[in-house]
Amino acid sequence: MTPQVQDALVSFIGDSLAPGRRLGVSWYGGEPLMAKEVVFRLSDRLAELVRETEGAAYEAMIVTNGYLLDEATASSLWQRGVKTAQITIDGRADFHDNRRALLKGTGTYDRILRNIQTTVTTTGMHVAIRVNIDDRNRDSIEDLLWDLADRGLGKAGNLSVYFAPVEAITEGCHSVSDATMTKRDYAALETSLQRLAFELGLAGLPYPRRFIGICGALRPNGLVVAANGDLHKCWDTISMPHLKVGSLLDGRASFHTDRMGEWSGWSPFDQAACRNCRMLPSCGGACAHKFVNPEQTSGEAAALPCPSWKYDIKRRLLTRAVAAGLISGSDAAAADHETRLTDVVVDRNGTLAHEGLKASVGGRKLLPLVVI
Ligand code: SF4
Ligand code: SF4
Repeated sequence: MTPQVQDALVSFIGDSLAPGRRLGVSWYGGEPLMAKEVVFRLSDRLAELVRETEGAAYEAMIVTNGYLLDEATASSLWQRGVKTAQITIDGRADFHDNRRALLKGTGTYDRILRNIQTTVTTTGMHVAIRVNIDDRNRDSIEDLLWDLADRGLGKAGNLSVYFAPVEAITEGCHSVSDATMTKRDYAALETSLQRLAFELGLAGLPYPRRFIGICGALRPNGLVVAANGDLHKCWDTISMPHLKVGSLLDGRASFHTDRMGEWSGWSPFDQAACRNCRMLPSCGGACAHKFVNPEQTSGEAAALPCPSWKYDIKRRLLTRAVAAGLISGSDAAAADHETRLTDVVVDRNGTLAHEGLKASVGGRKLLPLVVI
């Protein structure tokens, strides 16, 4: 990021930050720690802006591959208000090293795991390990969890593990769509992995929140800033300049009104599938990008925005009930634990919205989404 873009960004945030508001920053790449001096410098300037704004608050997180997150770097980030680091591991060491090797071919797994151990023991930063799963590495994930536990990470109070399906949600990754899991297969696997992670002390048993919340793309002031000053609403369009919603130019932000309108006007209530779905109050439509830019997605996993909860909610609730001592394991085993689409879809029109979801993308606007 050039000094001109940095200056434009600080000036844009300075003009936008009102007293009493919160500035939330996610450092993201590429790999943001390849430019850690820029991250440090901008953090200091933004923190100063917040200090000068009455009642304003600052919080930050970083999405990093973890390779450059050594002790000094973790400490510098922590001192600059970075409270969470999200680090992706692509399965057991051999799978991860195969996918995430250095240019010279050396693996990165061991060094990343050492950095994670150092970060959670020397700072208060929360490390969220994201495990990407597809058909190719699905059988290696249990070994990964055991390895994390063997390294003592199950005892760290500031570490958690969560899982995410690999999805082909941009044109650049359509080649992986054949390797992605179906929504239902992924949900069943995730349920069993969540239980193992819980038993190993690596995660709590998740509970479907009353409202998952909306992602930054739908918040009026949520923007992703590219290194060249392009402005996007969604993290996943950042490599596609034709989908930008504006730019930081000559120290000022300018916006494409039509493209901004596609995001600000989007509502799950416009989608027949979401309107007919019992998950809507909790889910809120999950991922607007899949509706706004459907041509970017490929394969079932990417086309359907629905979170994995939708496909296995009964088994997950039973698992939680057993863990909380509310019911016995034999009660849970005897219960009907299969989640059918008819359980989660209100079939008002004689069609199941699951199948109709893709067809509903781009549907007519009916009601505004009111978020309180
Ligand atoms: S629109 Fe979807 S892909 Fe984009 S930031 Fe939101 S959840 Fe992520
Ligand atoms: S149809 Fe899918 S995306 Fe829409 S509310 Fe239901 S679970 Fe969420």
